[in-house]
Amino acid sequence: MKGRIRRCPVDSAYTLHEFCPLCGAATVTPHPARFSPEDKYGSYRRIARGWTR
Ligand SMILES: [Zn+2]
Repeated sequence: MKGRIRRCPVDSAYTLHEFCPLCGAATVTPHPARFSPEDKYGSYRRIARGWTR
């Protein structure tokens, strides 16, 4: 049995079920992100800081 984690797009609750046990919405499998969006924003923040200074 594969323990594939799924996530509810409505309340962002993590579950192993195909449907959210909280609201009943169909859950989705989060994509294995190779790049981090946080890092992307971090770079933007760094640039913004450089401009303000
Ligand atoms: Zn839900």
